[in-house]
Amino acid sequence: MLLRHTTKEVKVREGLTINPAKTCQPVGALYAALGIHGCLPHSHGSQGCCAYHRSMLTRHYKEPVMAATSSFTEGASVFGGQANLLASIDTIFSVYDPDIIAVHSTCLSETIGDDLQQITKKAKDDGKIPEGKHVIYASTPSFVGSHVTGYANMVVGMAEQFAESTGEKKEQVNLIAGWMEPSDMREIKKISKELGARIVLFPDTSDVLDAPQTGKHEFYPKGGVTIPELKSTGDSLSSIALGCISAEPAAVALDKKFGVPFETVDMPIGISATDRFIMALSKAAGVSVPDEITSERGRLLDAMTDMDQYFYGKKVALFGDPDQLIPLTEFLLDLGMLPIHIVSGTPGKRFEKRMAEILERSPGANFKNGPGADTFLLHQWMKNEPVDLLIGNSYGKYIARDENIPFIRFGFPIVDRIGHSYFPSVGYSGGLRLVEKILSVFMDRQDREAPEEKFELVM
Ligand code: SF4
Repeated sequence: MLLRHTTKEVKVREGLTINPAKTCQPVGALYAALGIHGCLPHSHGSQGCCAYHRSMLTRHYKEPVMAATSSFTEGASVFGGQANLLASIDTIFSVYDPDIIAVHSTCLSETIGDDLQQITKKAKDDGKIPEGKHVIYASTPSFVGSHVTGYANMVVGMAEQFAESTGEKKEQVNLIAGWMEPSDMREIKKISKELGARIVLFPDTSDVLDAPQTGKHEFYPKGGVTIPELKSTGDSLSSIALGCISAEPAAVALDKKFGVPFETVDMPIGISATDRFIMALSKAAGVSVPDEITSERGRLLDAMTDMDQYFYGKKVALFGDPDQLIPLTEFLLDLGMLPIHIVSGTPGKRFEKRMAEILERSPGANFKNGPGADTFLLHQWMKNEPVDLLIGNSYGKYIARDENIPFIRFGFPIVDRIGHSYFPSVGYSGGLRLVEKILSVFMDRQDREAPEEKFELVM
């Protein structure tokens, strides 16, 4: 009962975060970079930072996550890390031979003031980047933002530093993935194929972090968006950003630089957000929705209505990343549930605005984001108004145990279960999986706690 001392009384805290609902920017930048085929992410900072970022992703995906580091010591901390990064680029291309190195900064290199654009240019001018190879960069200072900000910054780096315009439009739509699982990216590609829409999805970590066991280690797995695909995004008809926080900034960058118009939709989690995504993609690609997709939607709707009696009026607390929380909250409302306490450690006005719109259907609900929105506050809210279900990453298990309530792992990181990288949460089939998970924890509890005379076989 590690959290048994959490107090019920909520006091205004300034300058203190307890059990944050976020992690550091480079974790997101590293994850995004793995969504480019043949990429070796590089952490420009100390070895400790890189070890932490890799371990977070390795524990979540149960896959070996590769990344290089500038290995700062006292010298680099005082005189700057340019020499370390130039030497790293040289060594990485000679020893590990990636197609691309994606460099992200860290707290230390940002505090020193290292200019990644200038150092990358110097590497090019000094002939350290072989012909046909690439180095991109993103600024990811972790004293602001969160892992989601870092992800968004690296995806902007992909759009700004790779996209080109040949002057001729390509019959394709850019789908810019917000932070989602490899399984979700696979599902987005499956839906696009069923629709008959030609897309470029980036980043794309499917077949990188969910690669099959073949008995042979592939340093650069077969998945990931390719460099020619990324270059072609400047010629696409339009872009659809899947998430206003983690994906939209890259869509804005493509619009500004190449005039590629864009639409932002919520990440397609749940029935309403998936409807909007399918309609946006079918319009952008000029295709109609096939019967198979309509049937899939019908199956989700059937499960939702069949099981309504178990969902109706149940109170939920949730925490995690903004682009996932927005449609997940909407889906819980569509199921007849009441999301009443919501926190996200990632700052951003867009989250506040969108959440306020969605929560008009759940008057009086608490929600907060940014530095003060931590899981300690969430726990305090739950002590004041108890809930029937908690949804969040693995750290939520302490609260769920303390409050003796059902808990569903959702988001990042999940370090004590598997499934998230294999089964999607997006699309209608992802919605069906969420319905099944929620229903199972409610029914398990009912079975566990029902008195003898009310213990039912058929539910
Ligand atoms: S020092 Fe900064 S970049 Fe490094 S692990 Fe800590 S928060 Fe992340």
